[in-house]
Amino acid sequence: MPTSTRTPFIGGNWKMNTTRGQALELAADVARAAAEKAVGPQVAVYPPYVWLETIRATVGGVSLMLGAQDCSPEANGAFTGDVSLDMLTECGVSTVLVGHSERRHGLREPEERIAAKLKAVLGRSMTGVLCIGETLDERETGATDTVNEMQLRSALDGLKVRDPGKLVIAYEPVWAIGTGKTASSDDAQAAHAAIRTVLVSILGDAHAQAIRIIYGGSMKPANAAELMAQPDIDGGLIGGASLKAEDFTAIVDAARA
Ligand code: PEP
Repeated sequence: MPTSTRTPFIGGNWKMNTTRGQALELAADVARAAAEKAVGPQVAVYPPYVWLETIRATVGGVSLMLGAQDCSPEANGAFTGDVSLDMLTECGVSTVLVGHSERRHGLREPEERIAAKLKAVLGRSMTGVLCIGETLDERETGATDTVNEMQLRSALDGLKVRDPGKLVIAYEPVWAIGTGKTASSDDAQAAHAAIRTVLVSILGDAHAQAIRIIYGGSMKPANAAELMAQPDIDGGLIGGASLKAEDFTAIVDAARA
């Protein structure tokens, strides 16, 4: 059980998965489970862009946020293949993932672009989930906290954060994403505590205590409760397990237990 007064945040990142029919069914199951209890974590799903309109009505009206896996930092123009925040807002999106490792490392997205995206998201009063985390090499050389601090400073230094409830940090060790390997709850807690210390120095104590820091990396029903029982782990960003309604809702229940 989370020990802080921060409302836990649970996000389901569907990545490039689901057919239209599967997306509708998954959204309906998750929405039903999210609506069952009035009090609980903030829950968001991040489907592929093309299903946003498809599931919008299913998600709307319950305590489930509709999210996008990425966005353009630009307002509009000649940016082939990109999707703007205006477009996402029109689709009912209120939260956006920024800097996911599959873009940061997989597609070599530069730090400046990640920072520009986060600034644009928060500038529209949407909830931005900034993903950070170290690679296996970085972990093995003891650089976890240094890497997290560099990624945090690059996105947050000089950024105006008016509402700390709209900024979520997802600590996702790259070696744990989609691999079945999970950081131990002690290691994850140590990384989260170090992240909160950096947040204090960038944004001040009040903001740092209010910002949710969530864990991502093979979180599943079997390990969710132990991870989220740590004082600085305020929820989870879930990939694989978010594609099964039963597993995802079990994780949501672990956060509200
Ligand atoms: C993710 O994509 O953010 C993630 C944590 O994936 P998984 O849960 O599959 O490791």
